[in-house]
Amino acid sequence: TPPAGPIPFDNSYARLPERFYVRMAPTPVTGPALVRVNRELADLLGLDAEALASPEGVLVLAGNRVPEGAEPLAQAYAGHQFGGWVPQLGDGRAILLGELVGRDGGRRDIQLKGSGRTPFSRGGDGRAALGPVLREYIVSEGMHRLGIPTTRALAAVTTGEPVYRETALPGAVLTRVARSHIRVGTFQYFMARRDVDAIRALADHAIARHYPEAAAAERPYLAFLEAVIAAQAALVAKWLGVGFIHGVMNTDNCSIAGETIDYGPCAFMDRFHPGTVFSSIDHGGRYAYGRQPSIAQWNLVQLAQCLLPVLDDDADTALALAQAAIDGYATRFDAELLTVFRAKLGLMEPRDGDLALVQDLFERMAANRADFTLTFRRLADLLTGDDEASPRDLFVDPTAFDAWEDTWRARLAAEAPLSDADRAAALRAANPAVIPRNHQVEAAIRAAEDAGDYSVFEALLEALATPFEERPEHAAYRLPPRPGEEVRQTFC
Ligand code: AMP
Ligand code: MG
Ligand code: MG
Repeated sequence: TPPAGPIPFDNSYARLPERFYVRMAPTPVTGPALVRVNRELADLLGLDAEALASPEGVLVLAGNRVPEGAEPLAQAYAGHQFGGWVPQLGDGRAILLGELVGRDGGRRDIQLKGSGRTPFSRGGDGRAALGPVLREYIVSEGMHRLGIPTTRALAAVTTGEPVYRETALPGAVLTRVARSHIRVGTFQYFMARRDVDAIRALADHAIARHYPEAAAAERPYLAFLEAVIAAQAALVAKWLGVGFIHGVMNTDNCSIAGETIDYGPCAFMDRFHPGTVFSSIDHGGRYAYGRQPSIAQWNLVQLAQCLLPVLDDDADTALALAQAAIDGYATRFDAELLTVFRAKLGLMEPRDGDLALVQDLFERMAANRADFTLTFRRLADLLTGDDEASPRDLFVDPTAFDAWEDTWRARLAAEAPLSDADRAAALRAANPAVIPRNHQVEAAIRAAEDAGDYSVFEALLEALATPFEERPEHAAYRLPPRPGEEVRQTFC
């Protein structure tokens, strides 16, 4: 029997025209074994976690058994990779099993990643290695707990089969859960084929699924474009607020639903610098921390171009509408960034000059190699005086922080009075103490790879579940890497 009896799939993507995908099942593996089922997420989806973790459930999670009601398929898409156009990418190592409407009423894709070759695999083996699967599990669940829209991890299994990268590595499959897997690159796939009917059908599908209010607008496709622009602006502002660097912001990794998707060589910064890059393949620094806002806009321009044929029958009108929408991105992004960083500075009221206050802190942090997460987290301690550690200790030249602190305190004093305790509580709710630091993620992966020891992975997930709390048992997870522990490069 499939897990928890029949899974109530409702597969809206599989009802789209056949040229949107290739129908096919995952490729079975020889030795499926469970790493982990995400019980909380299983509950949200209305799935029985026990059944998923059972031998029958593991067969489903490994792709060895297609559950009743699933309509497995590989999605077609295209994309710009590092700015270079690729007319056909598609799910080269993933299979969408189907969609579920969860207990919260939300519709979500259930996708197996690492599930074997498809017609979109090009030269690839269709598989995923255990390390990247664990990284995606840890970081996506960590992002979710930080309150950032993201795909999630329902389960990880090992396959019993090696995958060959630089060396032989254990293979694994991640069960990825997403609001959808529609990407900017999905629109580009049809644009490249001059298939306007498909663009319209895909936009209608995405509107119904993600932006139903756009359907009632005077110009639904314009409202849709504006909604995606707003979602991406909000998302990237939130990334900047936690020091997150996606690493591969190609248009095929840009979600129409506004979720963080495709965790490859992603990383959280320890010491702050806007030029920070971790990805071993990002030689030019195209996707550096500080470039993410403008790259998101570049990706949205690609979406706008795809929508031109449906925005208006008159090409000049369509272009003017698209241009105006794209021009709105910068204003939107600045507003989102201010919302994020006002909260991080404990500012309750907007004032002119707030962006300059943030930028001044950024410059001082960059010049002094200050730890991003701890600098913000310790602002609260300055107000309550209940910690011996101050942000200033994180700066090579602590007086660089002192000068900024004077400006910050003057700015706080210019607002309606608020008790230090209340402001500190607000600061602690906006500034996490625990993030998925690279050295901790790497340690979890290494223990699993080298010794089949998942206890480090489990303990890290447990610490990341309450990122805004300072629990004594999680003290080690709040520390920046010691010299020698620092991870400088990530691989996908
Ligand atoms: P990514 O860099 O993960 O965004 O993937 C870009 C494209 O390469 C997508 O079409 C993936 O499906 C495909 N791809 C990545 N890794 C593999 C692999 N091991 N086998 C087949 N296709 C892959
Ligand atoms: Mg991708
Ligand atoms: Mg990928």
